Amino acid sequence: MKHDLVTDVLHAIRQVTGDRQGFVALHEPSFGRRERELVLDCIDSGFVSSVGNYVDLFEQRLANFLGVKYAVAVVNGTAALHVALLLAGVRRNDEVFVPSLSFVATANAVTYCGAIPHFVDSAPDTLGIDPVSLSGYLEEILIQKDNTWFNRRTGRRVSVIVPMHVFGHPVHMDALLEVAARFDLQVVEDAAESLGSSYKCRMTGTLTGLSAFSFNGNKVITTGGGGAIVTDNQELAKKAKHITTTAKIPHQWAFAHDQIGFNYRMPNLNAALGCAQLDALPDFIVKKRALAKSYETAFSGISGVSFVSEPAHSHSNYWLNALLLDDAMASQRDQILAVTNDAGYMTRPVWQLLHTLPIYADNPAMLMPIAESLEKRLLNIPSSPFLITGA
Ligand SMILES: *Cc1c(COP(=O)(O)O)cnc(C)c1O
Repeated sequence: MKHDLVTDVLHAIRQVTGDRQGFVALHEPSFGRRERELVLDCIDSGFVSSVGNYVDLFEQRLANFLGVKYAVAVVNGTAALHVALLLAGVRRNDEVFVPSLSFVATANAVTYCGAIPHFVDSAPDTLGIDPVSLSGYLEEILIQKDNTWFNRRTGRRVSVIVPMHVFGHPVHMDALLEVAARFDLQVVEDAAESLGSSYKCRMTGTLTGLSAFSFNGNKVITTGGGGAIVTDNQELAKKAKHITTTAKIPHQWAFAHDQIGFNYRMPNLNAALGCAQLDALPDFIVKKRALAKSYETAFSGISGVSFVSEPAHSHSNYWLNALLLDDAMASQRDQILAVTNDAGYMTRPVWQLLHTLPIYADNPAMLMPIAESLEKRLLNIPSSPFLITGA
């Protein structure tokens, strides 16, 4: 029986992606002629670094795609989240609620603000923060004094919740926003994985007024390395631009800075690549959704494992396709990983839960039954958009 699940998983992956030469990565970037043209144009212009037109163009086109007023391009998604948190009012020694089931950048960005990540549990259907268990937990641990909410156990102010849309699947945002409003918490979306996903017909990253995206090499589109802060608020957009460009006061020649800013600006060369990738994005999403559909069909007949499908009321970009093993099959995860990787198909387990990393083991955390169960049973399978062509 054990042997069957492992080989069934390998066969299903092979059936969907076709027999391929060479190693099939988890998510590879896809480049066409347009990428070459724009990057070459950027080099020919001489403006490859902190000055040039492609940054403005990329910001405008990203904002248009999302249907928001402003996008501010930065060096990576972690920097975008760091600045978004500062703009949301995160202060030194605040506690900020983040999912334990996330990439480490979600928590690190909080730490860069001098604040403390407070880890929370996930929902089984979205894999992201569960508003129901969070609500009960906050009722238990928070106390209001002088119009400010504090963690009654640590005495620290609580300021922000950071939902992360895991593998592109949107969090239950309506319920989460309701919980946040009840405790006067700001919400900043870590939309690093969910460019092009939507929740109730609204794009993720536009649901709370302030969010962060990543364009790292393994994301849905890439600028090599890059990120963006996204908002509808002109004041916040101006501040985001200012503190990510060393807080320099605009002047023809003088170098004056009115606060300690960051050198987080996206170089023009990276933005040129990003402009071409934005052109291709709608096609990537169509292909990724088709790939997910084929996986869903292929895995529907296999017992012991289920394909992770988009939650109700949402439209996922299916950034990374994922399988969830039944409880009884969790012990076979590592063998599945070994056999699929040996066969040339990259698979990997989900991130180690952040509250169990030594760097965050002493941080406040709620009980985590769902995230702990998911961590043992989730694995990602090849997800590049070109895999669907069968070519
Ligand atoms: C990719 C990612 C980021 C940001 O990553 P960068 O590599 O800094 O661009 C942040 N949060 C999550 C959940 C991510 O997956």
